[in-house]
This record gives sequence, structure tokens and C-alpha cells, in this order.
Amino acid sequence: MIALARSSAVKDFMQNRRGMRKLAERFVAGSDAAAAVDTALQLLDKKNIRTSFYYLGEYVDRLELVQENVDQKLAIAGRLTDEALDVHVSVDPTQIGLQTDPDQVGPRARTIGRAITRASAGKPGLHCLMLDMEDASVVDFTLALHDDLRRLELPAAITLQAYLRRTERDVERLIAAGAKVRLVKGAFVGSREVAFTSEAEIKANYRKLVGLMLSAQARASGFYPIIATHDDRIQAEAIALARKNGWPQGAYEFEMLLGVRSDVAEALARQGERVRLYVPFGCDWWPYAIRRIGENPANGMLLARSLLSRR
Ligand SMILES: Cc1cc2nc3c(=O)[nH]c(=O)nc-3n(C[C@H](O)[C@H](O)[C@H](O)COP(=O)(O)OP(=O)(O)OC[C@H]3O[C@@H](n4cnc5c(N)ncnc54)[C@H](O)[C@@H]3O)c2cc1C
Repeated sequence: MIALARSSAVKDFMQNRRGMRKLAERFVAGSDAAAAVDTALQLLDKKNIRTSFYYLGEYVDRLELVQENVDQKLAIAGRLTDEALDVHVSVDPTQIGLQTDPDQVGPRARTIGRAITRASAGKPGLHCLMLDMEDASVVDFTLALHDDLRRLELPAAITLQAYLRRTERDVERLIAAGAKVRLVKGAFVGSREVAFTSEAEIKANYRKLVGLMLSAQARASGFYPIIATHDDRIQAEAIALARKNGWPQGAYEFEMLLGVRSDVAEALARQGERVRLYVPFGCDWWPYAIRRIGENPANGMLLARSLLSRR
């Protein structure tokens, strides 16, 4: 799946094929920020679900595309100034120059962080530059970037992956620092030295890390846990743990992906839990969509139908 996501020949073919529109529509709000804001307003008004905005495009290796990504992140933050929505913008370090000019990633992230601060001034809500986590080779860089943004009092949060053995240490450090952490299982694979490789091990580690993130000690340090999984059993366990350790609803949140198990997200929101959806927008949708397909064999049918469809 990762090879399919990164092949530019496959990407060009898929993104330009007419019948593939259905596949894109399932996981992506639309081609521009207006479509994403529209989706976010509907989610909030009708379902009490919040949004993290993600302009599509990853592992970018051309400076003009890096600039386009930065401009789009700044534009979405600016656009949210007058909306009753969280200014919550997800960013991959490789979108803003990690592969082209790594020394400029920090300055670009700070510019986006400052735009988020300006756009959210005086607005209630949870506003942040959420750093997505890419493959294992960029974890140190991404953590250092996150720490730098926080040192400058910019609104940063970070994604950590349960498939990596190091994550327990990283979670413990960030709990002590009172950070905001989005915990995912991880969309990548790694060698046995650095990673858990079986589904069962990754799930067990995810549960262990949720236990740390929803501990009474994490609550006392001002930590903000974000449980980002579609696994409804783990979600139910997290809610039980939160109750046991004195976390009120809204002091932690659940995050899921647009187009994946929406019934589960809506049920959580109806129970009074804080729920957010990751809402991608833009034209470069293939690498993102193919990873979603890899996460659930049933989505393969949607891919097959889209390939066969002429409309
Ligand atoms: C908000 C958010 C942000 C993320 N950010 C990152 C990131 O920065 N870095 C990173 O490596 N990964 C990221 N991921 C992806 C994550 O690592 C997992 O690959 C993905 O969430 C699948 O694991 P799971 O725990 O949700 O579900 P699983 O344990 O895989 O499955 C639980 C249930 O959900 C269903 N399900 C899961 N995925 C899908 C799908 N795509 N379509 C339909 N049903 C599905 C399964 O069939 C199953 O019933 C993110 C995920 C979320 C929700």
C-alpha cells in the first residue's frame, strides 16, 4: 500500500480517472478549503462533531509544492477566523519541506502556528497545529519540532504511533510536559527492533498507552489525550478508564477519519463525548485514500467499483 501511495505514475492515473470520484468523495471533503469548511460546519451543526483540517499532499519533494502546502495551511487558518469552528490544522512535516529544505520546516511551522494563534484569538475551542507522524525515520525530527513550537508558546500538538516501541517513552515524557497527544496505531511498518509487527502486539501496546494517557497522573499534569482509533472496544474501555480516573467529558477527545465508521463517531458524540473528524481536502487525494483502503479489506470493493465505473 505504501508503494502504491508513493508511486507518482499510479497516482496520476487514479487521480485523473473519472470513475474514481466516488472513492475520493468517501474520504475527502472536496478539492478546496470552502468544501472542507462547509463539511465542518455541517458536522458541528448536525452532529456536534468537530474537525481537524488537512490539506492533502505528503512526502513533497518540490519547493513550489511545499510553498503551496504552507499557503493552504495559512489560508485555512485565516478562513476559520470568523467561523464558529476550532482552528485545528493537521500538518505533515514532509508537506512543509522536510524533504526539500529541512532547516526551513521550523520557520514554516512557526508561521502556521502564529496564524492559528491569530485566527483563534478570543474564540472558545481547541485550537492547534496538530503534527501528523510519518515514518519512523522522522519521529525525532517531528518531536523536536513540536517541542520547539511549544517552547515558543505556539499551539502545538503531536501524533504518536503505538506500533513503535519507543512511543511509551515519548508518551511518558509528553504526559509530564502537559502536552496534547493524538494516539494512533500507525499507518506504517517497521523492523522488529523498532516496531511491534503483529496486529495483536500493536493493539496491546495501544491499550497500554491509553492507560498511561488517561491515568490520574496525566490528568494532574494538564495533559490532553486524543484517542484516535475506529476500534469501538478500545473507545469503550477508554471511556470507562476516564470515568474511573476522574476525567470529565471534554477533558479528552476521540478522533476518527472522515468516511470511516461514521455511525461509531456519531454514537460517541450522542453520548456527550468530544469527537473530532480528520477532514482532508485538496486534489492530491490518492496516497491518502489508498492507505484507508489498506486499513479495511471491504474498502477494496469500493476501489474495484470505482475502477470499473465510467462516471
Ligand atoms: C484522526 C486520525 C489521525 C491519524 N493520523 C495518523 C498519523 O499521523 N500517522 C499514522 O501513521 N497514522 C495515522 N492515522 C492512521 C492510524 O495509524 C491507523 O492506520 C488507522 O486509524 C486504523 O487503525 P484503527 O485503530 O483506527 O482501526 P483498526 O484497529 O485497524 O480497526 C478497528 C475497526 O475500524 C475499522 N476500520 C479501520 N480503518 C478503516 C477504514 N479505513 N475504513 C473502514 N473501516 C475501518 C476496522 O475494520 C475495524 O472494524 C490516523 C488515524 C486517525 C483516526
